[in-house]
Amino acid sequence: SAKDAGRNTFQFFVQEMNVRVLRRLRVGSGLRRALDRNEFTMHFQPQFDAETLVLVGVEALLRWQHPEHGSMLPGEFIPVAEESGLIIPIGDWVMRTVFKQQARWREQGHRHLSVAVNISALQFARPDFADKVARIIAETGADPSRIELEITESALMDGSPSLSRRLQTLTGMGLKLALDDFGTGYSSLAYLKRLPLDRLKLDRSFVRDLPDDPDDAAIALAAISVARDLGMQVIAEGVETPGQREFLIAHGCRWMQGFLFSEPLPVQAFDRCYPPPPESG
Ligand code: C2E
Ligand code: MG
Ligand code: MG
Ligand code: MG
Repeated sequence: SAKDAGRNTFQFFVQEMNVRVLRRLRVGSGLRRALDRNEFTMHFQPQFDAETLVLVGVEALLRWQHPEHGSMLPGEFIPVAEESGLIIPIGDWVMRTVFKQQARWREQGHRHLSVAVNISALQFARPDFADKVARIIAETGADPSRIELEITESALMDGSPSLSRRLQTLTGMGLKLALDDFGTGYSSLAYLKRLPLDRLKLDRSFVRDLPDDPDDAAIALAAISVARDLGMQVIAEGVETPGQREFLIAHGCRWMQGFLFSEPLPVQAFDRCYPPPPESG
């Protein structure tokens, strides 16, 4: 009967929920120890000028080697880290690791490689964020002009009147700023125009159904023209097919990252695939 079906659906729902809640609890207790146990690593996804196939940068992406669940993606544990406040020490570890890696690559001859790091809205909201970044730059010897902080629209929508000044403190240190997941938030163009952003990252969700989906095509074109009008670079995420690449190039977006070019790689694999360019002059 319909009633039984309803009850079954409900039970199924409860079971599903229990599984999720339990997993969340386990993730939470494991997260607290993950830093001490060295269970985190960074992977790096290459970014290309898709016209020339020149490597232009990398995005650092966090991975957790969980003792029972194996390799876990950030979507499964970053929300838990944010709820528990652990995102702050984890974010510090991420910045220190990525900045150190940037210094190493520069010494090895990757002088122009830009290295992007994702910053949670909660990290960015801390009053000591810029001081902390400055301290980690000094400690690691990273070149701030080759480091890009990826910030989401939600981090910029806190309505704080000091936002623009806080961003300027970071750009004043030489850092680059990218707006991640562009198109998924609600920022107005007038609002974006006032902020010192260097780059827009067109969200994967608008790239997926290119070139056939007319709505996504319209959004992609709008994002590309906004970036151009505001003097920002634009990079497309999640490019998986030659058709997506061609569409984006034809419409003025040359910078891309995605499985068509490369998955995120551990450092050793990156170094094997992308040795530094030979010295010139
Ligand atoms: P994001 O910053 O938008 O990163 C891009 C995501 O798209 C990455 O997922 C990447 O592996 C994935 N991706 C790249 N190319 C393709 C493609 O062609 N197809 C598909 N299907 N996916 C592609 P990942 O590594 O799972 O990270 C998910 C999100 O977690 C990131 O989204 C970012 O918001 C967050 N995140 C990752 N690392 C960190 C971190 O160190 N700190 C913080 N706060 N957040 C992080
Ligand atoms: Mg990102
Ligand atoms: Mg993104
Ligand atoms: Mg995204």
